Amino acid sequence: MAKIGINIATGSLQQPEMIVGIDLGTTNSLVAMIHPETKLPIALKEFDGSSIVPSVVHFDAFGNVEVGAVAKPYLETDPVNTIFSAKRLMGKSYNDIQTHQDFFAYKIIDDNKDSLVKVQVGNQFYSPIELSSHILTALKNRVEHILKTPVNKALITVPAYINDTQRQATRDAGKLAGLDVLRIINEPTAASLAYGLGLDPSEEKTIAVYDLGGGTFDISILRISGGVFEVLSTNGDTYLGGDDLDRAIIEYWMGLMKIDSLDDTKSLKQQLRLAAEEAKIALSNASHFETNFAGEKLSITKEIFENLIASIVDKTMDCCAKAMKDAGLKLADINTVLMVGGSTRVPLVKNTVSKYFNQAVNDSVNPDEVVALGAAVQADILSGNNQNMLLLDITPLSLGIETMGGLMDVLLPRNS
Ligand code: AMP
Repeated sequence: MAKIGINIATGSLQQPEMIVGIDLGTTNSLVAMIHPETKLPIALKEFDGSSIVPSVVHFDAFGNVEVGAVAKPYLETDPVNTIFSAKRLMGKSYNDIQTHQDFFAYKIIDDNKDSLVKVQVGNQFYSPIELSSHILTALKNRVEHILKTPVNKALITVPAYINDTQRQATRDAGKLAGLDVLRIINEPTAASLAYGLGLDPSEEKTIAVYDLGGGTFDISILRISGGVFEVLSTNGDTYLGGDDLDRAIIEYWMGLMKIDSLDDTKSLKQQLRLAAEEAKIALSNASHFETNFAGEKLSITKEIFENLIASIVDKTMDCCAKAMKDAGLKLADINTVLMVGGSTRVPLVKNTVSKYFNQAVNDSVNPDEVVALGAAVQADILSGNNQNMLLLDITPLSLGIETMGGLMDVLLPRNS
């Protein structure tokens, strides 16, 4: 017999508690849910039609916090108090990020190089967990505002390649934002769910999910069989993404302007970063880009851009080859290739991946939304609406116990 809850105060039928899917991205974040009527996953959009919330946090002099599109302009005007790419710091020590420190325009504390990093804004110190929780709080508020109902339960996606400390940090950030994080799921697994793969129990497929976002790269090889998802292997680089494509353009332009360093003028550095991103996006659909920067005309052609980024794209292909090797598969075994992440809109990326796997890639679902959409599909499965599905995952890193002298005896090898 089914039980139906009734709200005694209003007499209305109580709806089952909603579980949303959250893509907490390095560059952008967003929330999706299953539409109650169409039963299809949708990304939640504000009145301005945008589903994407830039993962940017700004602190003003009075301690007020702004997140998202309103915070983004401060990357230019107030860079030391504006935090971007906080996800790259999750679960990391100063030693882990030292070689990339130049990339961050804000202050990262380095007194203890082994312990987890903190960011200094004014005289306050923030952990990456706190910074991410500001983004999650903003997402929660935004969803509650759109849906006009409290939302307390969520699934949060993470890159497949990250370790357990980073996964736990993501859970903690959710908790701090007042969210009950029911599951942390791998982004590529979510992406395949968004493509509806595996929903037909008779389907047998081997899929490569190529995910090049703003700050991270993941390649995952998944096998779907009998409605069960199994991740055969993962590979990737937590320091490779669209930001690096921007950086290639920045360095090219700095060379043209004969500027060695913009370290003393962080606001100019940010302006150049934004102009470079604008150029990259324009070059996905045009062969030439031109802009004005500090009184100089800057331009770049698609051909030069492709030469600049070829080695970055090749690096992702090396990861693909390693993932294929770990999975013990031949290229001909891959039935479908999915493109995920905003940076897969770059034609050179699409073409290189297509050439490597020797087939047309699948990019029909919006690559910015696909992970959140899949998280919503998984949320629906968790809430019991799709009981014939089971999700199996692998251990992305080896698990073991510490024995003598700090050595580890592996109990479960990587990719078990
Ligand atoms: P994501 O982390 O998936 O939200 O991806 C964000 C990244 O995608 C950023 O580096 C964006 O600059 C990049 N991006 C978004 N749109 C485009 C486009 N049309 N062409 C190239 N890169 C893009």
